[in-house]
Amino acid sequence: MIPAAFTYHRAESVDDALRLLAEHGDDAKLLAGGHSLLPLMKLRLAVPELLVDVTALRELAFVEDAGPEVRIGALTRHHDLANSALLARAVPLLAHAAGTIGDPQVRHRGTLGGSLAHGDAAADLPAVVLALDAVLVLRGPDGTRDVPAAEFFVDFFETALEPGEIITEVRVPKQTAGWDFQKFTRRAIDWAVVGVAVAGDAVALVNMGATPLRATAVETALAAGAPLAEAAERAADGTSPADEPAASADYRRHLARVLVRRALENSRA
Ligand SMILES: Cc1cc2nc3c(=O)[nH]c(=O)nc-3n(C[C@H](O)[C@H](O)[C@H](O)COP(=O)(O)OP(=O)(O)OC[C@H]3O[C@@H](n4cnc5c(N)ncnc54)[C@H](O)[C@@H]3O)c2cc1C
Repeated sequence: MIPAAFTYHRAESVDDALRLLAEHGDDAKLLAGGHSLLPLMKLRLAVPELLVDVTALRELAFVEDAGPEVRIGALTRHHDLANSALLARAVPLLAHAAGTIGDPQVRHRGTLGGSLAHGDAAADLPAVVLALDAVLVLRGPDGTRDVPAAEFFVDFFETALEPGEIITEVRVPKQTAGWDFQKFTRRAIDWAVVGVAVAGDAVALVNMGATPLRATAVETALAAGAPLAEAAERAADGTSPADEPAASADYRRHLARVLVRRALENSRA
């Protein structure tokens, strides 16, 4: 599988990348870790004429303490999230979930911004930032704007990113009480058949619809004082999981109920 021909440009700054995106519109794509984009290009599901390589922009790779929240640069790699002492203290759910992605090679190349921008409901970090009520910082031709994770994931592989915009950082509220991450996979390095992120009373689901989802029925039951097992029974309410030979929709609904119960119990143990 060989991608179609493309032009390659290594961006020297965020402004340089923004300029190229503005000049080339839909014909240009950012290249971060390349671990989602390059497979799509090899399958010719993405055929960009220009690749704007942002991997040299190390000013977008950081994990910083910012009082009540942690600021994370969009080019921070999964490996660095998983091994950040600050995240282990302040947002252990994010560090832990990043450490479950793919294999070491994937974690050494893949980035937080790339994973969120790709908008795959089967990916782990979109559901994690949703559970954590994180805010994405987007920079584009008209300046910078903040988008809550709850508004970022719009539809199947569709996000709130406008043409020409770049995710520059993600602001994550510190969260240490009562968290857990459950991921059911067929093989160790696979994407989740279903996954669950719990952060306090927030519950988010991986691969239970076109976008990562908050399990609102579970959250409502918890707020009303329902026992954990009873709340977990609502895990599939309002979801629309894919029905595939490897995992039927009914099987995924069952998994969601089991994994949410497990995650809630672990988070409170
Ligand atoms: C074998 C394998 C196993 C994997 N397993 C898992 C798994 O278990 N769980 C999981 O969650 N993921 C998994 N992944 C996906 C992996 O996490 C990817 O690294 C990630 O989804 C994309 O990040 P990237 O930096 O590689 O982005 P890229 O592939 O470089 O880019 C992806 C998309 O995002 C855009 N983009 C990149 N950065 C930005 C930015 N800052 N602003 C705006 N747009 C941007 C690109 O233009 C492109 O459209 C796996 C991948 C592979 C190849």
